[in-house]
Amino acid sequence: GAKVAIIGRPNVGKSTLFNRLVGKRLALVDDTPGVTRDRRPGDARLGDLRFTIVDTAGLEDADNASLEGRMRHQTEEAIAEADAVLFVIDARAGVTPLDAHFAEVARKTTTPVILLANKAEGRAGQSGLYESFSLGLGEPIGISAEHGEGLSDLYDALKPLVDRIDEEEALAAEGVEVEEARTNIEVDEDGEPLEEDEPVGTTERPLRVAIVGRPNAGKSTLINSMLGEDRMLTGPEAGITRDSISVEWQWHERHIKLFDTAGIRRKARVQEKLEKLSVADALRAIKFAEVVVITLDATNSFEKQDLQIIELVAREGRALVVAVNKWDLIEDREAAWKRIKDANERYFNQIRGVQIVTMSGIQGQGIDKLFESVFKAYEAWNSRVSTSKLNRWLDKVTINHPPPAVAGRRVRLRYMTQAKTRPPHFIAFASRPEQLPESYTRYLVNKLRETFNIHGTPIRFSYRKGE
Ligand code: GDP
Repeated sequence: GAKVAIIGRPNVGKSTLFNRLVGKRLALVDDTPGVTRDRRPGDARLGDLRFTIVDTAGLEDADNASLEGRMRHQTEEAIAEADAVLFVIDARAGVTPLDAHFAEVARKTTTPVILLANKAEGRAGQSGLYESFSLGLGEPIGISAEHGEGLSDLYDALKPLVDRIDEEEALAAEGVEVEEARTNIEVDEDGEPLEEDEPVGTTERPLRVAIVGRPNAGKSTLINSMLGEDRMLTGPEAGITRDSISVEWQWHERHIKLFDTAGIRRKARVQEKLEKLSVADALRAIKFAEVVVITLDATNSFEKQDLQIIELVAREGRALVVAVNKWDLIEDREAAWKRIKDANERYFNQIRGVQIVTMSGIQGQGIDKLFESVFKAYEAWNSRVSTSKLNRWLDKVTINHPPPAVAGRRVRLRYMTQAKTRPPHFIAFASRPEQLPESYTRYLVNKLRETFNIHGTPIRFSYRKGE
């Protein structure tokens, strides 16, 4: 199972949170900072999630002159051993220099960090919650470990991480070891990445692309045609497999790592389960990828399974390109294209502006066009907009189309910032965000896409209450 570490400066409520998650009075809680405790892992449960939780509270010793240095060391160690980290601050105390110091340590790792603003019951923690955005650890979750508040938000944040570890362990048991694609790079106030951003498409950093689609859509044929040799078996009966799950490929000068579902599918799986399994397999491939290519069969596109896969891509926050395969079989191409364009309007709500490429794997046609689109989608997925540009933009769009008034009072949008890329995540501060209708958010997101040319990737958009 997943291993989750709780970190943070003394007295922010780490042990209380530990107890809350373990459900037993294992750790000793004391209001005096620096009470020494054991560093003991506990079996945590949160809803249906099961994971191991490690508390670093026992590492504190207020009398020690080199407290900071020792804690830093221990924190680094805890992070290195963990699959995910809960970074706790005291929302009532606000962000202290020591918090900022630890945040810097946490930002430098690749372990996912969830920022928790504890003691946020009532209103007293509000300003501390907003302040904690400045730590560069993404969106904070307000909780009260003592009163058990905010736990469902914590659940939502933890679930994908815990599921992913369980998934990886299941794969490892099958002898498959792969790293999930890196998503969610944090950006600072100017929209610059907080981590060094390597250029993609080099030998060290190949672009990670998943080729997914229903059985028989032509994935294997496409990949064979790309690789220029019969690496994989293909045939009219779906589900013929091979062993490896990724293969390196070069398109012009650029390096690409391909993941496909056929390779992930286990050989032994039985035929009748195939329909169901292919969606689960697609999910695995999607997690490894930065850009997903969904292969559709032009002769019967947008079937239920196709739509399920498109949903998954949106949920997992990957960039998407649609390959309409077997185009060689289509006689009335104009009519077929019109049908596809109509479907595009209907099915890509969350990933507007997806590029659709017609192609034929068997004839090796359309592959260049396909990969041009793949790199474009990657750029959109990775796009960053500086805070100053965003706020100039916000002024303009809210003047052209003001937020609606509720009970005579207009909801004000005061400030916007981009918190993450891969996919882009924007946060808007509003006076009464709960009163903004969904249609207004759609308007903002569509305008963002238009103005900043962000197509073919999901966009995350959330509100914070604030001045
Ligand atoms: P997979 O299950 O998605 O990997 O599909 P396959 O690559 O095994 O292809 C399924 C069937 O469709 C095979 O009989 C292929 O020969 C055929 N096929 C694949 N791509 C094309 C194409 O571009 N045009 C035509 N006409 N047939 C194709």
